[in-house]
Amino acid sequence: MNKKTIESVDVKDKRVLMRADFNVPLDDDLAITDDRRIQSALPTIKKILEGGGRLILMSHLGRPKGKPEAKYSLAPVAKRLGEILKQNVPLAPDCVGDVVGALSEGVKSGECLMLENLRFHTAETIKDTEAKQDADKRAIKDEFACSLADLAEVYVNDAFGTCHRDNASMLTVPKMMNGKPKVIGYLVKKELEFLGSSLAHPTRPFVAVLGGAKVSDKIGVIDALLPKCDHVLIGGAMMYTFFAAKGTTTGKSLVEPKFVDEAKRLMEIGGDKLLLPTDSVVASEISSNADSKTIEGSIPDDLMGLDIGPASISAFSNVIKNAKTIIWNGPMGVFETPPFDRGTMAIAKVMADATANGATTIIGGGDSAAAIEQAGLSDQMTHISTGGGASLEFLEGKPFLALEVIDDA
Ligand code: AMP
Repeated sequence: MNKKTIESVDVKDKRVLMRADFNVPLDDDLAITDDRRIQSALPTIKKILEGGGRLILMSHLGRPKGKPEAKYSLAPVAKRLGEILKQNVPLAPDCVGDVVGALSEGVKSGECLMLENLRFHTAETIKDTEAKQDADKRAIKDEFACSLADLAEVYVNDAFGTCHRDNASMLTVPKMMNGKPKVIGYLVKKELEFLGSSLAHPTRPFVAVLGGAKVSDKIGVIDALLPKCDHVLIGGAMMYTFFAAKGTTTGKSLVEPKFVDEAKRLMEIGGDKLLLPTDSVVASEISSNADSKTIEGSIPDDLMGLDIGPASISAFSNVIKNAKTIIWNGPMGVFETPPFDRGTMAIAKVMADATANGATTIIGGGDSAAAIEQAGLSDQMTHISTGGGASLEFLEGKPFLALEVIDDA
């Protein structure tokens, strides 16, 4: 995907509307607990401010139900960004409307304004498929997007975590900015380069490690990666749907019965490429206090599989050690609850060793990124994606409509 970047636009004295992904985690006191998403947007923000642009930032935060809610205000983000940039970042009272229009006019070169949460309006998340079938919804989405588009002369998409969505700010706004430059920022560029080049020209052996709760979420990605990878390793709860497909009993483990046939199909097309764990760490419940033990193969009725066992860790580690490109999405077990974090932590360590030995290691965001952070190994991976859902859809090969409307390079 060869798209124009922020490098190609002279932003001097122009109003630049930048869609960022400031969906940061907040604690009960509304303090930001992890500001990685703000930090990731900084290169593009600084480029615009240093180039004399008049920056207008927009983002969503959390899942408000289409109306203002104090706990989803972008105020903490505006404050933190102001501290980092050492300049005032005022927060507009809304993201559209006359007051916002006037505020955007008042932004001077080298200054920036943060718009309030886009999801305080239902229009932001109306899907294009819904809008196609419902003229009222189309009108609401278009009117909202038009108000945003009117705020600026340049559009920048640097919200990789939202690139798989057809939200108004991601898709409809740039569509409406006809004749005005529409570019990607450095974060989106970096994500596309790492994910794109690892898929298009992987140094081999190329290995994918997939885990997490649901096989139903990952069928598309397994299908897409099997022809490209030398090995696909399966862990997490989804391994038990494959166990069921093999006729191995799974006890109380999380199995998706509707997807057993899909698992069979994937095992058939995957053959030796698809590696399943041979042992599990099991317990009667998800609790650090529960008695846990390792068992091979079949799981008795009263127990559930909560992590990959030591023999599987060892087999997976050997494959990863010999790989030159490794993509990881989804934890190997219930990593939030020790001792069921051991498989995930062990794989994180092997990935870090692989990076040190020259392999390219890519973490697909979401829970895998949280697990790597928990292991203290974030700085030992080649690339950690800021978008869990987006990176998964990218790996699946789904088109990103929000990027298709950006100017071609
Ligand atoms: P996902 O969002 O699909 O990547 O799933 C991540 C979640 O899967 C984490 O919250 C893990 O606790 C959970 N998970 C991983 N392995 C298991 C397992 N064996 N049983 C239940 N949950 C699991």
